[in-house]
Amino acid sequence: MLTIGVLGLQGAVREHLDCLNALPAITGIAVKKAADISAVDGLILPGGESTTMGKLLEEFRLTQVLADSIQAGIPVWGTCAGMILLAKAIAGEPVCHLGLMDITVQRNAYGSQLDSFTTTVLIPKVSDMPIPLVFIRAPYVVKAGPGVEILAIAADKIVAVEQANMLATAFHPELTSNLEFHRYFVGKVRKQK
Ligand code: GLN
Repeated sequence: MLTIGVLGLQGAVREHLDCLNALPAITGIAVKKAADISAVDGLILPGGESTTMGKLLEEFRLTQVLADSIQAGIPVWGTCAGMILLAKAIAGEPVCHLGLMDITVQRNAYGSQLDSFTTTVLIPKVSDMPIPLVFIRAPYVVKAGPGVEILAIAADKIVAVEQANMLATAFHPELTSNLEFHRYFVGKVRKQK
């Protein structure tokens, strides 16, 4: 049995928990305090609003303990706002949040017309079937360092990346009925354990 935490301060927490709990031998729990982090084998940083989530992380004194756990190797997956939390740099903004993944992200990057959209993309490392990708005021990766593997490109933009124990997607697999990305992350957590 694996326990996977979803940072439960704000955003699409319930949706990720439902996906995790639909998988065999996985328990999903909401992580709200430092002690919860030591109880999980892997961690999801959900979508929501990264500025708000960053402030809540500070308020609940979670920024450092989260960064330390990720640096120590706990598998982590950031979706949308979660990708922004992981990034080392945010284009046009002076500060970042956890600053761990060697990517620069552009927030709200698709402009008003494509504010929210869905597309379907084949991501061979994750599944042999095309996966539906849901973007909601999404970021994309404008720059990825040499240690970062690019998993998916959609509309010419980098939208899924991996660097060692860190996975980040600009889109929201938890808002679809396709569980392939959750399975992929669970596989990463299982390997690490
Ligand atoms: N636009 C949000 C941000 O900048 C992210 C949107 C999302 O997570 N769906 O934090």
